Amino acid sequence: MTEFSGKSVYKGITIGKVLVLKNKDFQIKRTKVGDAEAEIGRVNDAKDQAKAQLQALYDKAVKEVGEASAAIFEVHQMMLDDDDYLDSIYNMIHTEMVNAEYAVAVTGDNFAEMFANMDDDYMKARSADVKDISERLVRNLSGEGDADLSSMEPSIIVADDLSPSETVQMDKEKILGFVTVHGSTNSHTAILARMMNIPALIGVPMDLEQIHTGMEAVVDGFESKVIFEPDEEVRTAVEGRIKEEQEKAHMLQTLKGKENVTLDGKKVNIYANIGSVGDVGYVLENDAGGIGLFRSEFLYLGRSDFPTEEEQFQAYRQVLQTMAGKKVIIRTLDIGADKQVDYFNLGKEDNPAMGYRAIRICLKQPDIFKTQIRALLRAAVFGNLSIMYPMIIAVEEVKKIYEIVEEVRQELEAKGIPYKMPEQGIMIETPAAVMVSEELAQLVDFFSIGTNDLTQYTLAIDRQNAKLDDFYNPHHTAILRMIKMVTDSAHKYGKWAGICGELGADLELTEEFMKMGLDELSVAPSMVLKLRKAVREMRVTPEA
Ligand code: PEP
Ligand code: MG
Repeated sequence: MTEFSGKSVYKGITIGKVLVLKNKDFQIKRTKVGDAEAEIGRVNDAKDQAKAQLQALYDKAVKEVGEASAAIFEVHQMMLDDDDYLDSIYNMIHTEMVNAEYAVAVTGDNFAEMFANMDDDYMKARSADVKDISERLVRNLSGEGDADLSSMEPSIIVADDLSPSETVQMDKEKILGFVTVHGSTNSHTAILARMMNIPALIGVPMDLEQIHTGMEAVVDGFESKVIFEPDEEVRTAVEGRIKEEQEKAHMLQTLKGKENVTLDGKKVNIYANIGSVGDVGYVLENDAGGIGLFRSEFLYLGRSDFPTEEEQFQAYRQVLQTMAGKKVIIRTLDIGADKQVDYFNLGKEDNPAMGYRAIRICLKQPDIFKTQIRALLRAAVFGNLSIMYPMIIAVEEVKKIYEIVEEVRQELEAKGIPYKMPEQGIMIETPAAVMVSEELAQLVDFFSIGTNDLTQYTLAIDRQNAKLDDFYNPHHTAILRMIKMVTDSAHKYGKWAGICGELGADLELTEEFMKMGLDELSVAPSMVLKLRKAVREMRVTPEA
């Protein structure tokens, strides 16, 4: 039995089998070999294995998501037979007498860079594909096999770190918990863990060489610890606690269908945050009044090319139809910073959180933005849609957005394509937006305060940097004053204001938020009923 402490991201407890995900970079070492032909044989075996894996993935995807979306696995099979790619690998092994893993990884990087620098958009997009197939070959060569996370057994994921695009590809039903060596409590992977309602620990100082797939482990988010190979005594105690938690969750179920109203009659909308169409199930299961933040950028992650207008339209329509007239606020693309997508070719930046991201990309590359807006306006016909724009710093940006949206509307009108104009709001997540919130309130329909970024930009603390977790204080008076100021600005012009950052779910602040007059709190689905319970037990006006 070995025990480690870390930082808890979601308070829950679980027991189950471990699946170790190894960091690809840390495995690829350059070693000299004596027999080049033997290495080439290994490459060919790994290639055959990869083609069989891709065929299985293709068959599965055709059944689950249709032929068009499955086609990528066929493309990958063809790329594995590309002569230029293979010759480059064979040649490197022969001339440098190096191991197959190294030759594949370097060739993969070279080809990916070559594609990325091409002018043709289609060829640019192949850059991510060549990386994908090279990583698959390396995994096969190192005996790790297919890390196809969608077909795994229910497991506790143990990794060095996880990116949002890795997390988003996982079959959430099969993840019992996360334990990572790195990561920060405010990262998007942490947010995903909270949304999925699973115990998660980050910053765990474990040696991944000592931990193996198939080991048993307990993840205890309450005590912030993970125990590998627990003994009988620990297992029994943990099983008892899992049962207690289930009973508490059962009690919360009795609040379904009840209003979010304080003892003295003050009401608030409690909505849920989601990242994919599949998350709508959690929203309904937890009886949220609507969706206050659909992070649409997750539709763009974990793929090798832009989602088409049609793919986006189908996703948005499905969410709107499933929510059956309840409010659905879809945030436009917020890519960049920690949410990196190869095919956007954003390039390396020294300071990505303050860099080319979110609405800045949309305003500079309006074609990408217009595709999304077209899909949104068309989908709006099918339910109660609001659109929300991220990372706004100025009134001029909103005016520019409105011009682009109007262009799209006119195009749809001219072509006779059915559409509806949704409510339009903005995220308040920069200090600049707070300071000009009165001006902004006159332009938009609502404000949704993104406290995750607002805290990072106000306190000058990178939300991704685990070293700063102790300094990252979203309860800072500066943040609370800003929230009050934004709420007052909205109300002054008859608009509503909510919070969709993680702070909205902070039960220590719920009473204060109710007193400030916030109209909406949008939280992880797993927090909806806990928040409802807190609201129903409090009084916000002094008794007469
Ligand atoms: C925020 O910044 O608070 C927010 C809700 O957006 P994200 O966490 O996706 O950046
Ligand atoms: Mg944000």
